[in-house]
Amino acid sequence: MSTTVSIKHNQPAAGQAETERYNTVVNAGTLYLVATPIGNLDDITQRAVEVLQQVDIIAAEDTRHSQRLLSHLSVNSRMLAYHEHNEEKMTEKLFAELVHGKSVALISDAGTPLISDPGYRLVSYVHAADNDTVKIVPVPGVCAAITALSAAGLATDAFTFEGFPPSRQGARLNFFERLAGQHRTMIFYVSCHKIINTLKDMQEVFSAERRVAFARELTKTFETIKRTTLSELLAWVEADENQRKGEIVLIVEGKTATATDSRQLDFYLSTLLAELPVKQCVKLVVQLTGENKNEVYKRALQIKDNPETAEN
Ligand code: SAM
Repeated sequence: MSTTVSIKHNQPAAGQAETERYNTVVNAGTLYLVATPIGNLDDITQRAVEVLQQVDIIAAEDTRHSQRLLSHLSVNSRMLAYHEHNEEKMTEKLFAELVHGKSVALISDAGTPLISDPGYRLVSYVHAADNDTVKIVPVPGVCAAITALSAAGLATDAFTFEGFPPSRQGARLNFFERLAGQHRTMIFYVSCHKIINTLKDMQEVFSAERRVAFARELTKTFETIKRTTLSELLAWVEADENQRKGEIVLIVEGKTATATDSRQLDFYLSTLLAELPVKQCVKLVVQLTGENKNEVYKRALQIKDNPETAEN
């Protein structure tokens, strides 16, 4: 079932420009999804502070962790724990509070809730309940993925967020294999304990020369941002143990497809097809180029049937 939730924001006073700030007033029966900083506490928005100060309940991933931020902001609202182990039970409880007119702010340990963090179950539940009295309001702010992407120096016109790669090597290699043909820039969250093995697997699947941006400890004292190739990044991280500490986002360039690539592919195929059977030719070209086997096979058959269509 699809639902449309329409939100009545606090409107600017007559004569006040749309872009001017206007006071935040928290509404009853509203779930606020509030982004918090990923390091530098000054990165919280003014609106987030006002919402957190006014809501009846703050649902936090780790109440002890969030207490430090809330004390810093002089926020005394009641806190409840909402994390992956109690999500199911707490979703129903928080929804009941919302139906009874309470205002609730959902926060995670850092950044935007729901982005590799708890909250999906609650937001989805509210939509599915289709209850006109309960509203959802995002209060945007920092997200490590977007912060890293903005500084990566890699294409930003089309990108995908891939979250954390699997921990086990077999599953991780399969995960990267499925992304091998992705042309969009890819964003990954990576645990510092797995950075070396992750880079080795990425290099194996995406190639040593694929460009990558490494964004570590964003907005914190040891913030490090470096754009290079996968092989150079691996060597650099292996040589400096400080680069294996803290929080890391990797931004990997998508597979580049150029006119020269397809011309080169056609050149290999038509040259080899003159000497070898299709199957053998496809095998060699896949080894030489790393291109997708099915695509190469399809192209080989086209060139075999119509050699004049080859771009060379
Ligand atoms: N919800 C958060 C967000 O909006 O970015 C992400 C939470 S996820 C559990 C934590 C991961 O985000 C870390 O392992 C790291 O990959 C990334 N991350 C969080 N803070 C970061 C920072 N200051 N610098 C680099 N990466 C960070």
